[in-house]
Amino acid sequence: MSTPLHVLTLQSATTGVLTSPTPDGYALAPQTLTPCPISAEHMQLALKHSKTYNRMMYLAKKKFSTWLKPHLMATSTSDPEFTGKLLSLADFILSNSPSSYETPVLCVMRSDYMLDTSSNPGPKLVEYNTIASSFGCLSTKLAKVHETLNKTFSLNQNIASNNATDKIVGGLSACCSLDGVIVMVVQPGERNLFDQGVIELEVIKRGRKIVRMSLDQICNDSALDAASNVLTIKINGADVPVECVYFRAGYDPSDYKSSDDWEGRKKLELCTAIKCPDVFGQLFGAKKIQQILTIKEEREKLYEGEEEEYKAQQEGVEDTWVKMWDLKDFDSIVKMVQSAEENTSFVLKPQREGGGNNVYGDDVLGHLKALKEEERDGWVLMETIVAEKFNNTLVKEGKVAYAGVCSAEIGIFGVTCFDSEGSDRIDDEGKQGYICRCKREGVDEGGVAAGFAFLSSIQLV
Ligand code: ADP
Ligand code: MG
Ligand code: MG
Repeated sequence: MSTPLHVLTLQSATTGVLTSPTPDGYALAPQTLTPCPISAEHMQLALKHSKTYNRMMYLAKKKFSTWLKPHLMATSTSDPEFTGKLLSLADFILSNSPSSYETPVLCVMRSDYMLDTSSNPGPKLVEYNTIASSFGCLSTKLAKVHETLNKTFSLNQNIASNNATDKIVGGLSACCSLDGVIVMVVQPGERNLFDQGVIELEVIKRGRKIVRMSLDQICNDSALDAASNVLTIKINGADVPVECVYFRAGYDPSDYKSSDDWEGRKKLELCTAIKCPDVFGQLFGAKKIQQILTIKEEREKLYEGEEEEYKAQQEGVEDTWVKMWDLKDFDSIVKMVQSAEENTSFVLKPQREGGGNNVYGDDVLGHLKALKEEERDGWVLMETIVAEKFNNTLVKEGKVAYAGVCSAEIGIFGVTCFDSEGSDRIDDEGKQGYICRCKREGVDEGGVAAGFAFLSSIQLV
């Protein structure tokens, strides 16, 4: 298979890092000049639970009918256009194609933390992402850039090693033979092309084939064999079986503009390829489920019958969480927000991904009150994490955009591939993969692609 043009561009770029296409060419991704200081102990705590979330995702799929689905019913009524459609698709797969449901699922999970400064300090989970977790590859490169600066200027920084690229590529390669193809599901007009390009390049280096396709292209340009559920696409005139599907799109309603997009998604869910993730895994990533997990009894039900090893793995995970609520007891929620002490504030979240959807601080009360009763189950409320502060320099398009007080959000990658019995085919013990995003003081949102945060690396202190 020939190497795609944007991958060649990436390969030949002299800096080799951090580019995304603009109308005028390529732009450097927003980045910090130096790493962000994170306590080594806090980093260990965040790393410890990366695989806990992967296991939880497997269990939620296994207990779809008794645990995951019941928890999402009200939410899907409040959010029929997205959660509702995903839930219907999951139901359809389970009822109509048991073998598709039994297909292993690849999980490239990224659990995101801020370093809390409250009375119970430490890493606190912002969210875990089960689909399209991005920036692992650019972050791997940036850690190398910072390491080079560290050595060149003898800064004596202990920069945390970052093997995110290797973890992600290792996962994808373990799920596709030399005869098959990995389909990376992408948004038409994607700007974050080079974070994805590194994956393409590295997968090709491992002898695998990989193509980028949008959901509507999958609908129209692939063939699903009705008897075997094998999905094939044409490469140089030959029918090549799709063995792995890596979603870098499909997490937002805007990714499903027409019925063709939903048809494409259904084809992928039905086919024999290993999905990263499948629709069950995506549903586990709902913010509603993150809130449900904070209820001890619900967590216990999820782990009921599970092996002791995995029960032990998740112990203490609640120490890395802040409080979350649903809006069922609406009047007391409003009262709580109204009467919150000056230093407590809240974040209100809908069932969306990719940044720019939440409501923060002083806007929460007004937004809560404006919600129609039937919309409330689509939202969760979360305590605000007040993050540690430090100084850094933020660089945008090669120029200093800000120098001063900042805070960080770290994201830890956990990669697993579970078969229907729960055994994991990936062994990447000892390889840590992370992203670190840095933002100036006073900015609520945290997305890089959404324009709020700057990529960074971690300096262990
Ligand atoms: P998304 O799936 O859109 O990324 P997040 O839950 O990660 O949604 O929220 C987006 C951003 O909002 C985060 O990156 C973080 O900067 C901020 N944020 C979210 N939850 C909290 C919280 N509880 N406390 C402080 N900031 C938060
Ligand atoms: Mg996030
Ligand atoms: Mg998210």
